[in-house]
This record gives sequence, C-alpha cells and structure tokens, in this order.
Amino acid sequence: MTSALLKPLVVVTGASSGFGVEIAKLFSAAGYPLLLVARRLKLMQALNLPNTLCKEVDVTDYKQFESAVREAEAVYGKCDLMINNAGVMLLEKIWDQDIEEWHRMLEVNLKGVMNGHKIVMRDMIDRRHGTVINVSSIAGRKSFGNHAAYCATKFGVHALSETVREEAAPYNVRVMVVAPGAAETELLGHSTNESIVEGYKSWKASTLDQGISLDPVHIASSCKFMYEMPQEVNIRELVLASTKQN
Ligand code: NDP
Repeated sequence: MTSALLKPLVVVTGASSGFGVEIAKLFSAAGYPLLLVARRLKLMQALNLPNTLCKEVDVTDYKQFESAVREAEAVYGKCDLMINNAGVMLLEKIWDQDIEEWHRMLEVNLKGVMNGHKIVMRDMIDRRHGTVINVSSIAGRKSFGNHAAYCATKFGVHALSETVREEAAPYNVRVMVVAPGAAETELLGHSTNESIVEGYKSWKASTLDQGISLDPVHIASSCKFMYEMPQEVNIRELVLASTKQN
C-alpha cells in the first residue's frame, strides 16, 4: 500500500469543470484517493490524477451515484469526505422561466445533494466519523435578481445542511457548507437568456475589480481547510466572496 492510500477516500461531485477540478487537484496533491463524478467522463480522466477513480454519474440518479461510491470504497476504503459540489445555475425571472429549468436546478442542486448524503451518511454514523461538505452559494444567503429558482435551491442547501448537521452531531459526523461568491467557471454559461448573461457580466465588470472574481482555487482551499480541522471542530459555514462583491 502506498502512503497516499493511507488517507481516506474523498468523493467530489461535479469534478469535470470549475470548482470541482480545483478541489480534485488540491486533495489529490495532498495524497487523498479520490472518486470523481460528473457526466463528462473524459474531462475528469484528462486530469490524470493518481489513486483516482472517475465515473460518469448523473447525481440525480441515486442508483448510479451509489454504485460509483461503492466501487470506489471497494478499492480505497470507506468514504470519509463527500463534497457535494455539482450544480447548475439558470438565470431568469420566475414568470418567464421555462419550468424545465426550475426542475433541473431542483434536481441537481437539491436532489443531487440529498443523494450524496444518503449514500455515505449511514456508514459515517455507524463509524462515528465522516464529513459532508455542501457547496452552496452566497445566493444561498442573499437574493439576487433573476436568481429566484437558483436562490431557492441554494437557500435549501443551507436548510438541509443545518438540519442534518444537528442530527449527525451526536455521532461525531460533520456537515459543513461553503458558500462562494461569483467566480469564473462554466456556471454562467448554463443560462439560456443571453441578455441576462450579458447583464451579469457587466455587473461583474463594474462591481468587482476589473471583473476579477473569486479564483476557484480559493474554494478548493476552503474545503481542504474545513475538512482538515480536527474532527471535533465543525466549521459549519464558510461564506467567501471577492472583497468588492455586494
Ligand atoms: P461549473 O459549471 O464549472 O461546474 C458544475 C459541475 O457540476 C460540472 O462538473 C458538471 O459536470 C456538474 N454537474 C452538473 N449537473 C450534473 C449532474 N446532473 N450530475 C453530475 N454532475 C453534474 O460550475 P462551478 O464550478 O462554478 O459550480 C460548482 C458549484 O459551485 C455549483 O454547485 C454552483 O452552484 C456553485 N457555485 C458557483 C459559483 C460561481 O460563481 N461559479 C458561486 C457560488 C456557488 P457535467 O456537466 O460533466 O455533468
């Protein structure tokens, strides 16, 4: 067994782009074996990380998600950290938005996160050890125009996390939330309303320093910092944003 394998298994959802890629690279560099899941398998495989299993998984599909985790656990041991990071953001006024877009956000941002908890937490509770980190958003703490359905899902992530945190606490299992502000990833590209996307870009350009938003690396290091606190310390919530973001 290599020394890398002495560290416990970390599962990262949404590891094919944005925050998930940086989280995967940082935890891998620190020696954690990984299970990376997303739908675009080749992007995860192209990261070429050691002691890493990449699986094509839609996090809304419980059975597919669970079987990927069990396969990784058979190789690397029990999952000690689940990072529920996969998400979609589709911006629009609620009265104009296609209902399918709400459904997609509810499915991925909430059901996907709930699936992640159910797959690993029974075992964590039995072992009296483990951590779940949910990637929410500053939009889970305050409202933004055109974000109604997205905010609803992200506020929901906080509600879910706080409830499960209280339930899991007596068993020494931690649930944490990291809530980032605007960052440069593929996320904005999910939206189908071009004028809203352009408005968002000019908001970033005028509000943040020359449009410079959070670097995804900072979200990755926040997750690592939170996880590597001693098990008896739970950083329940970490909100980080560009200094100039409102
Ligand atoms: P990206 O669009 O770059 O990444 C989203 C990831 O989620 C991709 O890897 C995508 O993979 C995955 N994903 C989407 N749907 C599914 C699905 N059904 N099953 C499995 N994986 C899925 O955006 P970010 O990196 O920015 O987003 C990561 C998280 O951070 C999200 O939860 C987002 O809401 C949150 N966030 C982002 C902010 C930002 O400004 N960028 C700010 C605050 C929070 P694939 O398409 O291959 O399935």
